Amino acid sequence: MKALRGRLFHLCGSSALDPKPEWIDDGLLVINDEGCIEQIGQAAALLPSLPAGCMVQDHRPYWILPGFIDVHTHFVQLGMVASYGESLLTWLERYTFPEEEKFVSAEISREVSHYFLRALLSHGVTTASVYGSVHKVSCETLFAEAENLNLRLLAGKTLMNRNAPDSLISHDANGKDLEATQALVERWHGRGRLGYSLTPRFAPTSSDDQMRWVGEMYQASMARGSSEPPLFLQSHLAENLQECQWVAELYPDAASYCQVYDRFHHLGSGAIFGHCIHLNDEDRGIMASRGASVAFCPSSNLFLGSGLFDLDAAVLAGLKVGLGTDIGAGTSMSMFKTMLNAYQVCKLRGQTLSPEAAFFLATLGGAQALRLDPYVGNFQRGKEADLQVLNPSAIALLDRRLQSARTKSEELFALLALGDERCLVAAYVLGQKRV
Ligand SMILES: [Zn+2]
Repeated sequence: MKALRGRLFHLCGSSALDPKPEWIDDGLLVINDEGCIEQIGQAAALLPSLPAGCMVQDHRPYWILPGFIDVHTHFVQLGMVASYGESLLTWLERYTFPEEEKFVSAEISREVSHYFLRALLSHGVTTASVYGSVHKVSCETLFAEAENLNLRLLAGKTLMNRNAPDSLISHDANGKDLEATQALVERWHGRGRLGYSLTPRFAPTSSDDQMRWVGEMYQASMARGSSEPPLFLQSHLAENLQECQWVAELYPDAASYCQVYDRFHHLGSGAIFGHCIHLNDEDRGIMASRGASVAFCPSSNLFLGSGLFDLDAAVLAGLKVGLGTDIGAGTSMSMFKTMLNAYQVCKLRGQTLSPEAAFFLATLGGAQALRLDPYVGNFQRGKEADLQVLNPSAIALLDRRLQSARTKSEELFALLALGDERCLVAAYVLGQKRV
């Protein structure tokens, strides 16, 4: 058993509309031998009751927050991040596909997996939902590295069997992709803290056959009940108008892009769709009724000029929303920058995003969107101790700004707007210090 002492902050609410912040200025987190939260409270109240020999790591005056959760990122695009802005479809063709082709090599895949997961931790991100390339080996190396670090991580091999370069698609429609996915699920899903996410890139690059077996595999896993954990699913939806138009041409009889996924039974709990910018109320209602979630990726949306996500409409429709960096269309692995971009997108939409709501999206909201909230997202008793220790004074301007902050909310907003990974003092994974 161990305890961490510092300024605790986490969210306990049900949505970004009701984030329920909790601050404990001199707090103690007691962590049991399994790496889970045993107790949270005032240090003065809890210290006398600690068992003899319990190590107390004193992080005062630093802040202790739950680890960030990045609900949408492509580790195989790290090498082409910050490629000069194009629109989505030409950007995929010119930069993304050539980069992803490199992951046919196990050596490259291993090197990038190693770098990427450590970079996540150094940004305070302790859980992510990650797209691999079409190559099975990309997920093999990523899961193996995540297992070494004991991370709670979701990932999947990207599925594409049409409308993509020959080098990235399998032509035996139901063959290689299905078998590779089954093998990855068997080997990695539910192993330790890892989960498998079925990953069709988006409707235009999967045939009807592929869309069908993905939906069947996903629904069958949900129907099995508690004996085995159900699979996850991730894809992209309504990011850009040109893409929406393309989907309308490919599926002329579908009422909307969203309903293409619904037709193949991809919408459900633990299924998360990147972007969801160009949706209508009916689409949001369908997604919410099925339990599907949204990955709000503001950095990426601003970079590619895809549009402004309507956060209020999504939350009011009952959708669970998390924040994604969407590397490599997003330009930063920092969830601080991503929260600031989310705030800016909301402003341009005429909406507000309080700092508490932004941190909710980056932690507990992300956990809910990925169906991982029983395990991570805040410091509720019994959850896994994935957390970050932050020193806001590491950045001179932020330190100066905090001195004139009048409320905790002002402090939090200054951290959101001026903070970055330089503030990170430590990241803990299941109670173990990893950075
Ligand atoms: Zn993406």
